[in-house]
Amino acid sequence: MSQHYPFVLTPLPYPFDALSPYIDSRTVAIHHEHHQSSYVRNLNQALAKCPQYHRWTLEQLARDYTRLPKKIQTTVRNNAGGLYTHELYFNGMTGSPLYPTPIGRLGKAIDHYFGSFENFQRVMSKSATSQFASGWAWLVADKYDRLSVLSTPNHDTPLPQGLKPIVVVDVWEHAYYLGYTYQRSAYVDAWWNLVDWEVAEARYTD
Ligand code: MN
Repeated sequence: MSQHYPFVLTPLPYPFDALSPYIDSRTVAIHHEHHQSSYVRNLNQALAKCPQYHRWTLEQLARDYTRLPKKIQTTVRNNAGGLYTHELYFNGMTGSPLYPTPIGRLGKAIDHYFGSFENFQRVMSKSATSQFASGWAWLVADKYDRLSVLSTPNHDTPLPQGLKPIVVVDVWEHAYYLGYTYQRSAYVDAWWNLVDWEVAEARYTD
């Protein structure tokens, strides 16, 4: 997330078919090559004429977009947010997870704040399925490492609230419509099989 202008579309850490059968290869390919790449293009276009922000990292742009000139604020909010959230989403999944449930300090913290892993799953799935229209559901940590679940519309991130993303699921229709049509909850149920708990633990303890 320390990359800055000009942004590039980073390759996925796995082939398009790696998440199958839970997320099919066509969905992954379109999601990355079409949707994510459009956020890169739009973000670069918005920043091209504003060289004073070319050193800002992706995370800074997504967190502090309100400090930018009014004319590019919305574009940066949507597209730096879009690029940032998709990097978290794709890098937070694996087709061959080593652990089926949270590990390490994160595992203990989830039990502490949610009572059990199963209850955390219920809370997060509910947040994901009840987010109206397009958005994201997040497991986040505050500066005291306290955990909570929230959802955001569009490509908004929890960064402006001073929260650190740990686990995130994309609930835009483009993330699941080919495989699951309108059944967002079936996609969310399947997505749990792909969460990389090693990555989540690394984000929490970072
Ligand atoms: Mn998406």
